[in-house]
Amino acid sequence: MSSPRQKISILGATGSIGSSTLDVIRSNPDRYEVFAISGFNNITKLHEIASEFSPSLIVVANQKKLDEFKALPPLQYKYEILVGDEGLCTASSMPEVDIVVCAIVGAAGLKSAYEAALHSKKILLANKEVLVTAGELFMKTVVKNRAELLPVDSEHNAIFQCLPPSETSFRLRKIDHLKKIHITASGGPFLRRPLDTFDTITLDEATKHPNWSMGKKITIDSSTMVNKGLEVIEAKYLFDLNLSQINVLVHPQSIIHSLVEYIDGSLLAQLGHHDMRIPISYALAYPDRISHNAAQFDISKLFGLEFMEPDFRKFPCLKLAYEALAEGNAACQIFNTSNEIAVDAFIKGKIKYMDISKIIAKQLETISQTKLTNIEDIIDFDLRIRELTSLSIN
Ligand code: NAD
Ligand code: MG
Repeated sequence: MSSPRQKISILGATGSIGSSTLDVIRSNPDRYEVFAISGFNNITKLHEIASEFSPSLIVVANQKKLDEFKALPPLQYKYEILVGDEGLCTASSMPEVDIVVCAIVGAAGLKSAYEAALHSKKILLANKEVLVTAGELFMKTVVKNRAELLPVDSEHNAIFQCLPPSETSFRLRKIDHLKKIHITASGGPFLRRPLDTFDTITLDEATKHPNWSMGKKITIDSSTMVNKGLEVIEAKYLFDLNLSQINVLVHPQSIIHSLVEYIDGSLLAQLGHHDMRIPISYALAYPDRISHNAAQFDISKLFGLEFMEPDFRKFPCLKLAYEALAEGNAACQIFNTSNEIAVDAFIKGKIKYMDISKIIAKQLETISQTKLTNIEDIIDFDLRIRELTSLSIN
């Protein structure tokens, strides 16, 4: 008898990671079914996804979006629709749910991811801001509740693939014989651009990634290398490493997705196309492997791989991330949330590109840090950083 299909909640189903996840599920209908989906702004897309996958639960941002959804042609099956954070937390905690895909962007995804950990779910984490804002608490909650945590971020997924297999599934554990990890970075669109022209960088230029197709915020974060900074922090909490064990290596071709270096001098790497369906499928099926629609990588065409050190003068945000990590959880939260506000202001044309790093540096210097012991403290602190950073811009 075949095993029952696993039921999946996709938080952030309308985004880039959400779409890639749905495509992997589309290729594996015998293994997976969509139980819940959420979307924030794009109600038409959410409706299209619901029409195709018939999820039992749909979550929208608020009452206005609910009205917008209901104004669309009625869906031909029975479903429930909920709103806001409460709806997201329901989608991540219902007993029917086997897997929760955390694909919301920013700290907005924290509460629902935390809820999934509290309810011992298998969590596929793309939303790196969860670990950056609440790394210690989130990992403790995962371990305490025996939830499973599988990294979707391509670098962390690559590292996970290069680690010794764990008997159950990935949980926080000290990794034996590991010397360090090398997180690769494409360097983004401005890797080779002269620093003295950074002043004139436009939104259009910052939202064109040379290799990856992703949501707007992470694409801008890649151009400033904030994204790599977030990933350094993410790696620290996921793999329980010291700062000195986390190296960033610029590799413009994005073929090697990261490397693990062991004490005997061996380096293990994971290679492949830059297509998020690969890490998503690995995290979904672990320890199995499943096929999907991403193009196969032709090893015979592999040539000209480059590696270089990151340039902190061009990418000061990466240095700020290391400094925040050395200070602790609250500083990491300031790094993340002031960046979210600064990027939003850059998108709206309120600040210049180079102001993003200046705003993060200033907020790290001026916002007083507090001890954050529970989720309520962390959410309150997030709101305070948002308010203070917005005030400093307007
Ligand atoms: P995206 O902008 O394409 O999608 C974001 C999703 O979150 C959408 O479904 C949107 O409706 C939802 N959302 C936005 N604001 C929200 C809010 N305030 N409340 C609830 N839902 C909200 O982003 P993405 O590129 O898919 O990235 C999602 C997450 O995955 C990010 O944390 C990103 O850093 C991480 N990630 C993405 C990629 C990638 O290739 N896209 C790779 C690695 C990690
Ligand atoms: Mg990444």
